[in-house]
Amino acid sequence: MKTSPVLAVENLSVEFGGVKALNQLSFSVQAGEVFTVVGPNGAGKSTLFNVISRFYQPSHGRVLVSGRDLARINAEGVAALGVARSFQNIELFEHATVLQNLLLGRHRHHKGYWWSDLFFLPATRAAEMAHRAAVEKVIDFLDLQSYRDKMILGLPYGVRKIVELGRALAMEPTLLLLDEPASGLSPEETQELGYWIEDLQKEWGVTVLMIEHDMLLVNQVSTRVLAIDHGAFLALGTPAEVAQNPEVIAAYLGEQVESVV
Ligand code: ADP
Ligand code: MG
Repeated sequence: MKTSPVLAVENLSVEFGGVKALNQLSFSVQAGEVFTVVGPNGAGKSTLFNVISRFYQPSHGRVLVSGRDLARINAEGVAALGVARSFQNIELFEHATVLQNLLLGRHRHHKGYWWSDLFFLPATRAAEMAHRAAVEKVIDFLDLQSYRDKMILGLPYGVRKIVELGRALAMEPTLLLLDEPASGLSPEETQELGYWIEDLQKEWGVTVLMIEHDMLLVNQVSTRVLAIDHGAFLALGTPAEVAQNPEVIAAYLGEQVESVV
């Protein structure tokens, strides 16, 4: 039996007023890939993530996760399918600790009311243990031991980015969406992030869909790269193939020209 791809995007279009943020885009991601989407500013990359997370409604086409049509499920249902995301701008609870933020990442696994877990009601104590174990695994993996009881507010930017990755990982996702995970990170932090993404793929079996501008990171971790411009398909292939594609080069040169004028 042929297994469904983890993600299938079919003829996807999204319109805002007259603007086509996505235009007849199709691609699919197989299990175990680190699949990266690149493209100039305004190409439609974040819109794609917002459709997959069910924040935006497609005007045409459809998205399937493990063969399930997302149009038939709500945002909660998408999380239940194992889709987790990090945001282009960090969205953590600043007045909570690292540990508390990671526990909130366990939301989709909560059977009862999520706040009852936070207040440790007896009925939820067993579930609480399971959540703690999952979160401890993430803390170990991302080397966050020294930050676990620190409030987010006082933490350096690079650490917050890692905590956000950790919160998505705490969901034990099958499909992890990373929107510009390296933005604002130093070259050293970016390299470390690259090692984590490689380990995630190899040891945790997570499939990753990533938006990223840092070409060093893209080259290091991506199994395939999709380039889009003006919401439409430009090129698909290995990182080297896409970087050498004349249409991709022209799209990025166009962006530089636009930013000069
Ligand atoms: P990227 O992430 O590749 O920089 P986006 O997906 O954010 O691009 O944006 C693609 C296009 O869609 C842009 O022209 C942007 O202005 C437009 N767009 C995105 N989100 C909205 C929205 N909520 N309302 C109106 N226009 C939007
Ligand atoms: Mg974006």
